[in-house]
Amino acid sequence: MPTRLGDDVDDYCIKCKRLTNHIVVSLLQDDPAKVRCRTCHSDHDYRREQAPPPKVDARKAALFKQVLQNATGSSGGEAVATDPAAPVEAAKTE
Ligand SMILES: [Zn+2]
Repeated sequence: MPTRLGDDVDDYCIKCKRLTNHIVVSLLQDDPAKVRCRTCHSDHDYRREQAPPPKVDARKAALFKQVLQNATGSSGGEAVATDPAAPVEAAKTE
């Protein structure tokens, strides 16, 4: 049975830091694309109940940022083109 907008799904909420009930707010080919936590009401990409990987330390984050800047500088920005299937909301929901 395809998922529909407004359906309840279980997913991992980064704010609640646990599996909570979510409402489907965006669909992609019958799969939840974005969900809203029913506990804290924050929207985020559907994670298929997977917890996010552990936080990287600051040094690695800085390195990654540097690599990203190098990539964008050499390719005119194409390297950071995001997958349309995964809207970039992560930074906002942190
Ligand atoms: Zn939550």
